[in-house]
Amino acid sequence: MSKIYDVIIIGAGPAGLSAGLYAGRSRLSTLIIEKAREGGQIVNTSEIANYPGSLEEESGPALIERMKSQAKRFGAETVYDTVSEVELEGDVKTIKCLANTYQAKTVILANGAYPTPIGCPGEREFTGRGVSYCATCDGAFFEDLEVYVVGGGDSAVEEALFMTKFARKVTVVHRRDELRACKSIQEKAFANPKIAFLWDSVIKELKGEELLDTMIVKNVKTGEQTEVKADAEDGMFGVFVFIGFRPQTALYEGKVKMQNYYIVTDENMNTSIPGVFAAGDIRVKSLRQVVTAASDGAIAATQVEKYLEAEACSVI
Ligand code: NAP
Repeated sequence: MSKIYDVIIIGAGPAGLSAGLYAGRSRLSTLIIEKAREGGQIVNTSEIANYPGSLEEESGPALIERMKSQAKRFGAETVYDTVSEVELEGDVKTIKCLANTYQAKTVILANGAYPTPIGCPGEREFTGRGVSYCATCDGAFFEDLEVYVVGGGDSAVEEALFMTKFARKVTVVHRRDELRACKSIQEKAFANPKIAFLWDSVIKELKGEELLDTMIVKNVKTGEQTEVKADAEDGMFGVFVFIGFRPQTALYEGKVKMQNYYIVTDENMNTSIPGVFAAGDIRVKSLRQVVTAASDGAIAATQVEKYLEAEACSVI
């Protein structure tokens, strides 16, 4: 633990990788800590159509690969470790992980958000055996089967479209009678003959033997509950859940200022603690997209540089 980095970035999604790129280009000694693999939520995205300059039909993982190598090229180091505790006050910040402990003069919190679960009985039990939160990762397992996609936002409808490449039929289960997704995505879904809609409906329970083969769906307007069973020949169906995200801020509770579990920053990504910045979906903001995450990361790293310069001047 002898080295004190200029900046530690927690999380290697678009915000963290963008911060890594900018910090590296500023010749700051930079460490990115990622618990599993780079990419955050966009590794679950089959197509990134709205990131300026992204290639046609480029997938989330492909875009992340390019961001990752760009950050590395400019000198940002990455370690794969899980943060267990943070000490953010004072001139030197300490980040304790399961394998090692790291220190830096500044920290950028960029560990994003995770998919919101439905929260019904059977969901956890059948995750990986019918229930999934990632069409890109698991879509191919549902070749020629029936699939239910839960949610009505951009993620749900885009991933329903993606699932039509594999599944025989895709039914979007939405709790209202109109979609939240943007109109251009809705139009594609309504025009796709493989996609059906189950309006005003929520899943109350997921059941099966080894694999998911039954679910109880409730109509929220009539209160009627229906048992949906897998086709006997299929023996199972898939349920893909896309009902929003929750910020991963449990580590920072009681340490940095938060609002509704999201970290509060100013427009320069400063949190309530000097030398601690936040970027991406983890912070309070109006638009959570790859482009805004990347922008936050760039601003945070630039502010780190300014903060370190000011600190150096105050010591002289
Ligand atoms: P979102 O926009 O928050 O939509 C969540 C959807 O899930 C809504 O339709 C919501 O229903 C439904 N929902 C929420 N809680 C539920 C519950 N407990 N049970 C059942 N349904 C529930 O989330 P998102 O689609 O993941 O998108 C997140 C952000 O990423 C958005 O800003 C979105 O624009 C952006 N995004 C953009 C793209 C793109 O532009 N290509 C792709 C993916 C995501 P209600 O509508 O009734 O609230």
